This record gives sequence, structure tokens and C-alpha cells, in this order.
Amino acid sequence: MENEKSKIEELFARNVFTMEKMKERLPAKVYSAVEKVCASGGDLTRAQADAVAKAMKDWAIENGATHYSHWFQPLNGTTAEKHDAFLTPGAEDGSYVLQLSGKDLLRGEPDASSFPSGGLRSTFEARGYTAWDITSPAFLKEASTGKILCIPTVFYSYTGEALDKKAPLLQSMEIISAQTVRLLRILGNKKVKKVTPQVGVEQEYFLVDAGNYMKRADLKYSGHTLFGAPATKGQALDDHYFGVIRERVGSFMRDLNFELWKLGVPAKTQHNEVPPGQHELAPIYENANIALDHNQLVMETMKRVAVQHGLRCLLHEKPYAGVNGSGKHNNWSLLTDEGENLLDPGESPERNIQFLLILASVLRAVDLHADLLRQSVSDPGNDLRLGGFEAPPAIISVFLGAQLDDVMRQLIETGRAKGHIKGGKLRTGISTLQDIDKDATDRNRTSPFAFTGNKFEFRMVGSSDSIGEPVTVINTIVAETLSDVCDRLEKAKDIETEVHDIIKEFFTEHERIVFNGNGYAKEWVKEAERRGLPNYRTMAEAAAALTAPASVKLYEKFGIYSRAELESRQEIQYDTYAKTVHIDALTMIEMAGKQIIPGCMQYEKELAQTVLALREAGEVVDTETRRLKQVASHIEDAQNALEKLTKQCAKGAEITDAKKRAFYYQDTIKPTMAKLRAPCDALEMLVDERMWPFPTYGDLMFEV
Ligand code: ADP
Ligand code: MG
Repeated sequence: MENEKSKIEELFARNVFTMEKMKERLPAKVYSAVEKVCASGGDLTRAQADAVAKAMKDWAIENGATHYSHWFQPLNGTTAEKHDAFLTPGAEDGSYVLQLSGKDLLRGEPDASSFPSGGLRSTFEARGYTAWDITSPAFLKEASTGKILCIPTVFYSYTGEALDKKAPLLQSMEIISAQTVRLLRILGNKKVKKVTPQVGVEQEYFLVDAGNYMKRADLKYSGHTLFGAPATKGQALDDHYFGVIRERVGSFMRDLNFELWKLGVPAKTQHNEVPPGQHELAPIYENANIALDHNQLVMETMKRVAVQHGLRCLLHEKPYAGVNGSGKHNNWSLLTDEGENLLDPGESPERNIQFLLILASVLRAVDLHADLLRQSVSDPGNDLRLGGFEAPPAIISVFLGAQLDDVMRQLIETGRAKGHIKGGKLRTGISTLQDIDKDATDRNRTSPFAFTGNKFEFRMVGSSDSIGEPVTVINTIVAETLSDVCDRLEKAKDIETEVHDIIKEFFTEHERIVFNGNGYAKEWVKEAERRGLPNYRTMAEAAAALTAPASVKLYEKFGIYSRAELESRQEIQYDTYAKTVHIDALTMIEMAGKQIIPGCMQYEKELAQTVLALREAGEVVDTETRRLKQVASHIEDAQNALEKLTKQCAKGAEITDAKKRAFYYQDTIKPTMAKLRAPCDALEMLVDERMWPFPTYGDLMFEV
């Protein structure tokens, strides 16, 4: 094991049916057919599909696989799999053979009725299909089930609507490629054929001890805590960020890396985050669709490896009140098939017209569809994080940094950019230390959409969410603006002048989306309102963006979603929100009703008995009575809130309209949940710790 583990190069992608492995195992003609479909689309013939399926199956079985599975990403944001053994009846003699046919590879037929479809499917219309995504390699998943050959697929309903997060992403990748190539051609590049969005996802997560986790119903059912007084020590000292990694966490990270490397996930960076118990993993960026698959595998593998180490991995956006939650920074850029990063400003950004045009186009796209971008990162957990002065606010803005901001301003004011701010040297003042080359621009952690050197970093995505939607939105909105630019340039008499005019116009008209200041500041909320930028504070509010006229026009133009599909996705948003809060509320009712209040009443009784006994003995009982009164008053508040919440939940479940239900949970249930939590957290600080029924914040955060 030790020896094996040291050979990372051999180990890397060992469980992946890579293009190289396919090349070794397939007849040359079949392999080139596969390559062609990957590069420019089209279909394999049935005979070719059979050959690929056989090679894939042989490789999988040689490596110990027993089953295959169409692996897909339904609209609930997770991954789905159903395993089928390779075992197939053979000849008439009753024997069995191990088989995977081209048909099995190309198409699966899971029952679609139990996956979210937002009204597109009724339970009696069960048919759905999974179709092989040839651009994403098959892999072996090693778990307690044994080894399963996972075939990445997209998921469609019988009537052809996408029921997953992958199909729209793949579509958006083709669309942005087409529009960007079109633009580059106009600008004189005759060779470029394809442009692929690149995505690198920094994943934050928390670890807790499995024993502690099991004792808390909120963690088990809701994935985050619903009660808990702050621990004596939280993140105030900033001593966890980049701190020495604790032993158990270190061995978890080590195994996690090896598991990910075997799956071909290029895990690169790991470190402790700000709150105790929080960590981060960042892989090297890849094609957006692969990055999506890999991020799903990262989340899944984190959970599995944690269990092996007596830990649990919390991917929820806000596991604990009062300390930072978790997100995933989504780094995005555009790469041509010639290896050019179109977001690289180069040495002199002010003269890089192609870069400035694309940059200005991104600004316009983000400004026109800020609501849709905001919506794409909605999930119930992220509501607890965005705008909480620890993560970006719920208002979309773009950080350009000093250098590009200056170039933009020169262009707006004079129509020309003559120079750029340079980085210079950071003088260390120590003779034995080299001076450090400084970047021209400092970082800004508070910006939701920040330009970071040669990519945009979309920082609002929640830690548990799929990146499918946000990346689909970025690709599509940028493609739309590039398409508008191309329309203009194709009609222009003088392309150079028109390009210049467009850059100036976009910067001038969309300057309002640029904000380089502190996004956590309260003043920004006012300033953004003054600028007319949308501020959708919650998931329920943000869902409106899906059917806004500009969104429908955008998606219909490129054929990604019809209005009906957008309405169904909106319905899923409302429904998911209400259901999630409902579960949280029921969990609170259970914990308060069966654990906290009974435990505290026990303590109350002890106090009452103490008061009686002391009084009988002729002692003064002021102190004991005071404490008893405090406890009794919090218990009363908790019991009142509990009864109210129980009634409200019963009512909520009866509201049939999804939107109304979502807002009822947001506006009525959530405030009552807060009313129940407050006295319970106060009681935690008052009662004998032996009577407190479950592990505290301190236990959860520090016993890792
Ligand atoms: P930063 O510290 O600025 O966030 P890192 O180098 O740590 O940058 O990268 C963070 C993530 O961004 C990593 O996943 C990395 O692979 C990814 N990344 C780096 N360059 C690009 C790029 N051009 N396009 C997309 N993602 C990128
Ligand atoms: Mg980063």
C-alpha cells in the first residue's frame, strides 16, 4: 500500500477509461470515430458503439468491476446511479456471460417519475432516458459495493426535456464556443476551431467526529446545526486559517487525495480554512463539463473517505451559526484549441483589443443578467450565507482591480487607454531576501464576481451545490453578448472603429456593475440600490429571475430551455425551498420537544427541589430562585414557540401553490424557528452540562 501510494504518476487516472486506454484497446478506425464525435459532435454507428462498449467492459472487468451504471446528475443537485451486473444470459445452454452492448452504453432507461421535474413529468409518465456523454470519460467507482463502471450520462424525459444539470451545461459550452469562434474569426484569427470554458472549483467543507454527528438529529437530517450556543472559542483568533493540519484531518486528506487521483481528479491544494473544523480542496482547472463531474466526485469522495476515518463531512453552506460557512469558488476562463486563454490581458492590457472586447462583453453579460447569475447559486443553505458579511453579498457586482479599472476609466473618459498601472517591487528591506514582484492589483475577497489575473472567480456558489447551473449561466449570458457583438461587427464598415466603439460603449453603459470596494459593508447595499442593481436576498425571491423576460429570451434564443422548462425549474426551486425548511422545522420540533425541553425540565425540577430543601433548612434561597426563574422563563418561551411552529408546519404542508408555500416558509416558519432557537440556546448556557442532550458547538468544532 505504502509503496503503491508513492507512485502518484502511475496511480493517476488508474480508475479512468481514458482516451489513451481507449486508443490501446480499440481498432484505429473506431478510435478516430470516437475522437471525431468528441471534437465536433455527431453519432457513433451501432457497430462502433458495440466495439467501444466491449473495450470499456473488458477494461472494467480486468480491473475488478462487477457492475456498470449510467451515472447522471438529476435536478436535486446530487448524482444518481443504478447498478446492473455485467451478467447476461448466454447461449441456450443456460450459461451466463459478462456483457455490455453498445445499446447498454448509449442509452439507459431509469424511471424518471421519482426525480424532480417541476411538473414536467407526472408519476404516471415515468419514462426517462440517460444518454452517454462521450466527452466525459467513464470511470470505476470503488466503494463498499465493489467496483462499479460509471458511465457519465445526461438525463432526458421521454418528451425530450433535460431533467439534469449536465445537458444544459454541455449545450452552453457548444454555444459559447460557436459565438467566441465567430468573434475571433471576425478579428482575423482563421485557425481557431473551438473554445472551451475552463473551470476550477475550490471546495470548502467541514469535518466532524462521526460519534458527535450521530448524536445530533439536526446534522443527521438537515446537514447543519439548528441549535447551539456559540463555543467559547470560535474563529476570533484567526488561528485556524492555513494552520497546521490536525492528525486525523491530515490522514483523511491524504486518503482523499489518493482516491481522487485514481479517479483522474487533479486535486492540488489543501489547507485549513478560517473556522475550526473547516478545510478546502482545490483541483487544477479542466474543461467545464469534466470539472462538473469531478466536483461531484470530490463531494462524494469526501463523504465516503470521512466515514472511513470516523468522521463526517459537512458540505452544507452554514453548518454553524456565528462562524463562516462554506462555499465553492468557481474559477472560469475561455481557452481556444490553440491554447490561448482569452482572459489573459497580457503585458499591456490597454493595447490588447481582443481582451478588452471580451472583458467588456463579460461585464455587459453580467449586468444584463445579474438576476439569473444570482439565481443560479440559490439553495436553502446559501440563504444563510450570502449577505451575512462572511461571503459575498446577494448583490452581483464585478471586481476588476486597480489596473483594469484604470484602463476602463481611461476608455470611458477619453476613448483611449494610453498606459497601465504596473505592479512594481515589494521591497523586503532585508539584504538576504529578494525583492518580490508585485501584482498590479490587490485581491478582493468580498467580491462575488472577481477578475483574478486571467480568469473570473464566481464566489457565490454554495458548497453543496452543483456547479452545473452557474457555469451554464455564465457561458450562455456571455455567448449572448458575443453574439450581439458579432452581429454588429458583421455589419460594420470599419471593424476596427466599431470594435473600439463597442468597448467604450459597453464599459460606459455597464460601469455600474463594477465595484472594487468592500462588498461586506452595509453602505454597499445602499449604493447598489442607488445604481439599480438587483438584490435578491433569498432563494424564494431569486427564483423570479428564471422566468424574467430577459431570461426567457436568452434561453429560447439558444434553445437551452423553453419557457415550460424554465417554469418547471422555478417550481423546483420553490418546492425544494419549502421542503427543506419544513424538514429543518420538524427536526427542531423533535429536538426541542423530545430532548431539550424535557432535559431542561429535569434540571428545573432539581433546582425546585434544591429551593425547597434549602428553604426547609432555613437557608436564604435568592440565588437558587433566581436561576430557577431564568430557566423556567426560557422553557416557557421555548414551549410556546414549539407549539406555534408545530401548528404553522401543519398549515404549511397544506398550501398547494409552490410559490406561496415557499414564501410562507420564508416569512412565517423561519421567524418562528428563530424564536424557538433563541431560548434553547440560552438554556444551553444555563443548565447542568450533564443534562444537555447532545454535543455542543465546542465538541463539534474541536473534537476532530
Ligand atoms: P487564486 O488563489 O487566485 O484563487 P489559484 O491559483 O489558487 O488562484 O486557483 C484557484 C483555482 O482556480 C484552482 O482550481 C485553479 O486551477 C483555478 N484556475 C487557475 N487558472 C484558471 C483559469 N485560467 N481558468 C479557470 N480556472 C483557473
Ligand atoms: Mg480563490
